[in-house]
Amino acid sequence: MKGKVAVITGGVRGIGRAIALRLVEEGAKVVICYRGNEEARALIEKEILKLKGEAIFLKGDVRDSSFAEETVKKAVEAFGTVDILVNNAGITKDKLLLRMTEEDFKDVVDVNLSGSFNFVKACSDIMVKNKYGRIINMVSIVGLIGNPGQVNYAASKAGLIGMTKALSKELGKRNITVNAVAPGFIETEMTDILSDSQKEQLKSMISMGRIGRPEEVADLVLFLSSDKASYITGQVIGIDGGM
Ligand code: NAD
Repeated sequence: MKGKVAVITGGVRGIGRAIALRLVEEGAKVVICYRGNEEARALIEKEILKLKGEAIFLKGDVRDSSFAEETVKKAVEAFGTVDILVNNAGITKDKLLLRMTEEDFKDVVDVNLSGSFNFVKACSDIMVKNKYGRIINMVSIVGLIGNPGQVNYAASKAGLIGMTKALSKELGKRNITVNAVAPGFIETEMTDILSDSQKEQLKSMISMGRIGRPEEVADLVLFLSSDKASYITGQVIGIDGGM
């Protein structure tokens, strides 16, 4: 990964943080987008300094297409190019359909799906020019199998799977791979809000009998970002302990 430049959205905590650190450990320069959690930003900044890595931090909302364009501009100013995009930022607003409002639905789709579109759109020009790119979209097992209380989230992630497949067909001849990573149940602040009984119920559905770690997802993203994954595109790769 030496010298490669990676843009990671939602990169200061949870899975995004683990991905950023893993890529830095392997020699990539990272452009970390975050929404405003300064405490988490300071923590990861310290870790990256310890690793003698190179990173810039950009604050903004993935729903804002001008933020995505600004990110690419700043990445080029700082590091010369963009090789890898990890669309990781995502939210949940879980409610049964009966209580789910139009706003709950739109908010989740706007962040998870339209936000990813904004970054793909902003990064694709430079990748096409370079005839090189790795795009990794963070989806979810829920986008494949559904889940009660997550009509909005499942729709957003299933949409992102469709976008991944269509993009892989458009960009393949430019040597740009586009893949989706579909985690199951991973220990982060996103899943921290689940009750103990919900966690136990989910665990009972996992063949390996345990929750996954963000670092395990980061290793898969590292592989897909690397030249070792040069002939993998348009795929949805599950990482769920056999859920
Ligand atoms: P998290 O809540 O810890 O991280 C999500 C990140 O996205 C945060 O840093 C947040 O600030 C950022 N974000 C949210 N809305 C944003 C916006 N509008 N603009 C910019 N940044 C925004 O959750 P996580 O578990 O680390 O999730 C990371 C990704 O993995 C998400 O896309 C999530 O859907 C997906 N995922 C997580 C799990 C899991 O079990 N944790 C399972 C499947 C998929």
